[in-house]
Amino acid sequence: MISNLLQLQKEYFKTGETKSVSYRKQVLKKLKTELIKRESDIIQALSKDFKKPVFESVLTETAVVLSDLDLMIKNINKWAKPKRITPALLNFPSTDKLYSEPYGQTLIIAPWNYPYQLAIAPLVAAIAAGNTVILKPSELTPHTSSLLKDIISNVFKPEHVNVVEGGVDISTKLLAQRWDYIFFTGSVFVGKIVAKAAAEHLTPVTLELGGKNPCIIDETANIKLTAKRIVWGKFLNAGQTCIAPDYILIHQSKKDAFYKALKIEIEKAYTNTPETSNDFARIVNEKNYNRLAKMLTNEKCIIGGNTNSETYYISPTVIDEPSIDSEVMKDEIFGPILPVLSYKNEHEIETVISNYEKPLSLYVFSTNSEKARQTVEKFSFGGGCINDTVVHFANHRLPFGGVGNSGIGAYHGKQSYITFSHQKAVVKKGNWLDLPVRYAPYTGKLNQVKKILKWL
Ligand code: NAD
Repeated sequence: MISNLLQLQKEYFKTGETKSVSYRKQVLKKLKTELIKRESDIIQALSKDFKKPVFESVLTETAVVLSDLDLMIKNINKWAKPKRITPALLNFPSTDKLYSEPYGQTLIIAPWNYPYQLAIAPLVAAIAAGNTVILKPSELTPHTSSLLKDIISNVFKPEHVNVVEGGVDISTKLLAQRWDYIFFTGSVFVGKIVAKAAAEHLTPVTLELGGKNPCIIDETANIKLTAKRIVWGKFLNAGQTCIAPDYILIHQSKKDAFYKALKIEIEKAYTNTPETSNDFARIVNEKNYNRLAKMLTNEKCIIGGNTNSETYYISPTVIDEPSIDSEVMKDEIFGPILPVLSYKNEHEIETVISNYEKPLSLYVFSTNSEKARQTVEKFSFGGGCINDTVVHFANHRLPFGGVGNSGIGAYHGKQSYITFSHQKAVVKKGNWLDLPVRYAPYTGKLNQVKKILKWL
């Protein structure tokens, strides 16, 4: 029973064991040893779930988690220590401190597209910050989900960390409980369900959602390199990446050269029969396969357009000038289909982008630094790159998250630790002096207070 499990975690949290930094470090090290030991099982599970290539499994799943774990283990003493903050003059004499306090019982709901990394990375941060965790992996990647359950039960006591497997019904039951923090990664649609459930108990949330990520290529871009970097970022994980470029907006004068370069780069990466390549993943299930295959009907596929309904294969595909009302331009694509729209003047870029909610990412390819800077400043989006795609994810010093419809909150690196901690501010007043200025009666004190406030 979910409520019993949660009660168990509540009672365990009250014992204070998770507040001990040395205990947290000890369990994180234990987790690291287990994850290293099970790396080949993880890679195998990812391959069984949607033929995820080994290289991509290491680069985007296991290695990311291990480097996160190292960072947490290395910094936990420093991050957990109360920080001295410069006091306000008005409070003189005082010592001010900021305490990182664990929230308590946290719920993490993960998606299927990076089913290992997007489950374990927030879990590592939640534990480092001293919380208990219930993790619900995605039901669409069952091999990874059951492996996660096995790994976690080998490392943690159930009252500390537990994996609850299941689909919508289980997720709904979990969301009906009262949590101290909910960390959700998934679609905008389910993000709203999570936000509503959290609002019932005023539970704080992180929502890592998606969106339609524009990729702008101007007339000054280095087309060969642009195509190479877009092919990697778009077709990685068969396009099932929340920060993959969703559609291209290219200056009309560069479109033909771009198509030629794309064709060369796709063949270089996946051969001219990508279906036989070990480096190209499959679509996760029938529902998503059908959704994507439908986008190809009545469109001009300038590259690819091949499908196999038995293996859920969709080839790297480029669609030339779809209409803005077409299926492919309606919502986030989340698959290996790349629509290309050309523009003559910059105003058209704005017209297209403003059709959609604020995206999770935006990419701009240009050798004109000033223009690229202006583009980045003009649009609101979660994060992105100039002259590359996806790689902003790799810098743990950059917080990762959306804005508006693409999400609430952020994580990665130190930000992950902060996300899972309440920042508790405490002023310790000295008793050796008690300035009379703030106390009533106030007569004649207003000017003094105004002066002090000016110094602050
Ligand atoms: P999803 O929203 O369908 O599912 C995510 C999780 O929510 C799963 O564990 C699922 O079981 C659960 N869920 C599904 N329906 C539910 C419901 N009605 N009530 C309660 N829980 C429910 O998302 P997905 O298909 O797994 O992932 C794809 C989406 O996630 C894309 O939109 C993508 O952009 C987004 N995403 C975002 C990030 C990010 O970091 N911002 C990362 C990966 C994926």
